[in-house]
Amino acid sequence: MRNKIVAGNWKMNKLYSEAVELVDEITIQLKDDPKADDIIKIIIPAFPYIRKVVRHSHGVKNLFTGAQNCASEESGAYTGEVSAAMIKSLEANYVIVGHSERRSYYKENHLDLKKKVNACLEQSLTPIFCVGETKEIRQSNKHYEVVAEQISESLFHLSAAEFEKLVLAYEPVWAIGTGLTATSAQAQEMHHFIRSMIEKNYGKDAAHKVSILYGGSCNAKNATELFACPDVDGGLIGGASLVPKDFITIIHSFPK
Ligand code: PEP
Repeated sequence: MRNKIVAGNWKMNKLYSEAVELVDEITIQLKDDPKADDIIKIIIPAFPYIRKVVRHSHGVKNLFTGAQNCASEESGAYTGEVSAAMIKSLEANYVIVGHSERRSYYKENHLDLKKKVNACLEQSLTPIFCVGETKEIRQSNKHYEVVAEQISESLFHLSAAEFEKLVLAYEPVWAIGTGLTATSAQAQEMHHFIRSMIEKNYGKDAAHKVSILYGGSCNAKNATELFACPDVDGGLIGGASLVPKDFITIIHSFPK
């Protein structure tokens, strides 16, 4: 059985006191919520709040903390960067790698992302590796090609044992923060395509072990339909993860 995962990407939102309030509200609700116990829940705040979120997550079953990015280099003269080892030293467990905002605003390419994945794995951090196509790419019917390239260029150097440690997230760029969600059929099609790619390269076992999350305007209203798809193992949630009630509803949205 694959892990069912709901990860909340807070992006560059919330001042410190607001972040503390938010993680407080979420953890208070989750502590008293046995229905959520078996779901892996990940809160991914801005770097300065990681330690606080880690502390709050103690005592909540299957609640973990992640970072939104990490450096591709190990250490040294890289002003402004945060290394995988530093993230690990804060006791976080996950790192988003290849979010479309990093690919587009910060021009992170396949090789940068490959190095970041390696840096995470070296520190026993789990990369949540994001892939997805822009609206133009989908309109020109090249979305499978683009997603296949994102995966093969940054991940297919890994061994099967390493690949099994990853979490993948399919996030169509046209759906992120836009209120436009992929239909469950579009999500399932792409998730199935990704899983078939993994199977071809690494075999059935690996393909069946890796959780593939959907991201892109996933919310309290549409999560049930998306999570009902056989190849959708949960969600990477942006906007809705900043609203405790909605985040908890999404966590409750897996089929019984
Ligand atoms: C994201 O940025 O990973 C994301 C899915 O954002 P949103 O849910 O706001 O579309």
